[in-house]
Amino acid sequence: MPSIKDIMQTMEYGPAPESNSEVRAWLDQRAAGLGHFINGKFTAPGDDLIEVVNPATEEVMGRVPKGSTADVDAAVRAARAALPKWAALSGFERARYLYAIARHIQKRERFFAVLETMDNGKTIRETRDIDIPLVARHFYHHAGWAELVDDEFPDHMPVGVCGQIIPWNFPLLMLAWKVAPALAAGNTVVLKPADLTPMTACAFAELLMEIGLPAGVVNIVHGDGETGAAIAGHADIDKVAFTGSTDVGRVIRRQIAGSGKKLSLELGGKSPFIVLEDADLDGAVEGVVDAIWFNQGEVCCAGSRILVQEGVARRFFEKLAQRMKTLRVGDPLDKTMDIGAVVSKKQLSRIKALLETGKAEGATLNVAPVELPKRGAFCAPGFFTGTASSHTVSQVEIFGPVATTQTFRTLGEAVTLANDTRYGLAASVWSENVNRAIELAARVKAGVVWINGTNMFDAAAPFGGYRESGFGREGGRSGMLEYLALPADRKGKPRPAPALVPQVQPFTGKADLPEIDITAKLYIGGKQARPDGGQSYTVIGKSGQAIGQAGLANRKDVRNAVEAAGKATGWGGVTGHNRAQVLYYLAENLSQRRAEFAAALAASGASPKAEEEVELTIRRAFWYAAQADKFDGAVTATKSRHVTMTVNEPFGTMGIVAPDEAPLLSLLSLILPAIALGNRVVAVASQSHPLIAARLYQVLETSDIPGGVVNLLTGERDVLARTLAEHDDVAALWYCGSEEGAAMVEAASAGNLKSTWSDYGKLRDWRDPKQGQGREFLRRACQVKTIWLPYGE
Ligand code: NDP
Repeated sequence: MPSIKDIMQTMEYGPAPESNSEVRAWLDQRAAGLGHFINGKFTAPGDDLIEVVNPATEEVMGRVPKGSTADVDAAVRAARAALPKWAALSGFERARYLYAIARHIQKRERFFAVLETMDNGKTIRETRDIDIPLVARHFYHHAGWAELVDDEFPDHMPVGVCGQIIPWNFPLLMLAWKVAPALAAGNTVVLKPADLTPMTACAFAELLMEIGLPAGVVNIVHGDGETGAAIAGHADIDKVAFTGSTDVGRVIRRQIAGSGKKLSLELGGKSPFIVLEDADLDGAVEGVVDAIWFNQGEVCCAGSRILVQEGVARRFFEKLAQRMKTLRVGDPLDKTMDIGAVVSKKQLSRIKALLETGKAEGATLNVAPVELPKRGAFCAPGFFTGTASSHTVSQVEIFGPVATTQTFRTLGEAVTLANDTRYGLAASVWSENVNRAIELAARVKAGVVWINGTNMFDAAAPFGGYRESGFGREGGRSGMLEYLALPADRKGKPRPAPALVPQVQPFTGKADLPEIDITAKLYIGGKQARPDGGQSYTVIGKSGQAIGQAGLANRKDVRNAVEAAGKATGWGGVTGHNRAQVLYYLAENLSQRRAEFAAALAASGASPKAEEEVELTIRRAFWYAAQADKFDGAVTATKSRHVTMTVNEPFGTMGIVAPDEAPLLSLLSLILPAIALGNRVVAVASQSHPLIAARLYQVLETSDIPGGVVNLLTGERDVLARTLAEHDDVAALWYCGSEEGAAMVEAASAGNLKSTWSDYGKLRDWRDPKQGQGREFLRRACQVKTIWLPYGE
């Protein structure tokens, strides 16, 4: 043991271990194994046990059972039984439980921090200063939402029983992110921790017993992917919330397609860390430490692709290499360590294999000159140089403490590189020039953007991804909405199948029966377009007679329409005021032609009250015009000296599939909120009453809606819906068709994990503003981007 005098000479760190005796004693008492936590009690552990290993020491620290379908059943039954009473409690009563959880976590912060460190391998510095304080903050924040839920979310109700599946990188924090909002909103929970890191969830269950949470409100079932699949697929689960890899997210999307379960997915990322030449380089270097070397790089939103402007690149990488030399890797319970163990030997092998791939593809790996402990799953931090976007390591999550690097010249090039990924979880932007920083924040496709900072989290700040990083948000108001439902989502009777099945006919462009008064084309890119296949179908009216022909669009037409929509990017950039003007103009033009629309609707036989339908459509256009510059984001109260903005960003191109009922009103009730917020749409009009689309495009043409913003297709609803669902350039899809169609759309959308919204074949009363109009439509037409801007010296 060196003396203090020696240390003063060398300035070496001495060992500073955090005591784990309390946790060891706790573990010793539970050495035989910990059971599931079902209906307020721990089950007997049984024989089929998973060993839980401390990845830093390789010691077995505990055992948990592998949940069977019977265990999952029991947990879901308990959650279902507890639901009515829990949901019926007043917000105040639920708030008291959440508050008690927060208080008890705080009282035991040290215990939880040590247990988490031993289970996961992350450093005590991080569990003590980041994970556990954020867990407490999350429960406090949601105690507040429980209190306010009736005031702040009128008409909403709990979703029901929530199945929640969490990963191993932030075990207790991910539990808090899932459980707190679910309980605040009045739901009950069945949660599965990752089999690698179940220990803090067990301690949390004990805490729930202490505070007297009613039995069955939270149930914890241990196990692996199979157990997770049994939870997600359980028929009596109403919502699935998953955090983990994009691959498993996709599996779950397909597994529960068509079930009507609400789904939120928080998936992988390959987040850019962008350093402009006017950045504070030393600050940015510290940023990298917090971006990719935080939590051993096992962070979904890690800044894992460092992009540096050319003029400062050499200097930046030199500084980074210098800083990397000072990192300390070792015993995670030592308070002086920067980097602990990765979660398991298996994860270490995965990381190492990817590092080898990076080198084999021609990149250079710069590794910190650290001596790694002989035992345990330790990985030296580093960064690649010489990586290109095409390299595997630039595209795939390494999920270890190693970043890739690239350089760029212009802001535009930085945006292109930043967005050159299938993910869109987070981004860091470093610049002392606020104009450039905010411009980048606006142009990067990511759910969270940190300016001059990284990995900042708060319970009030929504977190979640764009693109293949998933959908749904955790935290704040948006996070609460993931755990609430509207009565309109559940109401309607089953929708009948379309009355008309298109019969293929050549597209003649002229009426071939005397009573046919219209031959409708498609409307693509602001122009009328003949269907690609040259086919049309005869439309039958009220009297059972043919009343016209409509274009029979095919996959190629969908692709053309999506391409046209993709080009109309200007629409998202104009002000809400401009969009409002255009929507008012559309309403005005519709109003001028109300008699003609009413007559056409009446002739179609689709609308018993045709005049009323036209009138309501005009009113709806006014309502969404009014909303175009009012459906605001917010500045949320997070940390001091930070402005945290939540911005409602349009998706880009949305697919819309309209139902047969109220063909004009329903079609525009779907299109208007989407375009009011700046999206472009490819809309499929009613299959049975498609001629209304032809009249509509005449109105669109005269309403200053730029070409490509609204594209209208007619034809076989589900054929077109499938193509939209499979199309990678369609970012979100709304589908109002049949139950089977909804299942098809959800399964087919798993490709690019687009956000989908479906009524599962249930009729909606489009005339009722509570069902056919409202903020929910607007909320579903955008994705929240959270931008963090620290201020002060
Ligand atoms: P997974 O996505 O497999 O695990 C996340 C959670 O899902 C765990 O609880 C897991 O169970 C469970 N699970 C696995 N398969 C299914 C299924 N079919 N249905 C329901 N639940 C399931 O991540 P891994 O642990 O395998 O890690 C692999 C890679 O994924 C990492 O290297 C990293 O790149 C990425 N990852 C990303 C995370 C993120 O937050 N973005 C988090 C974790 C991993 P169990 O682990 O118990 O088997």
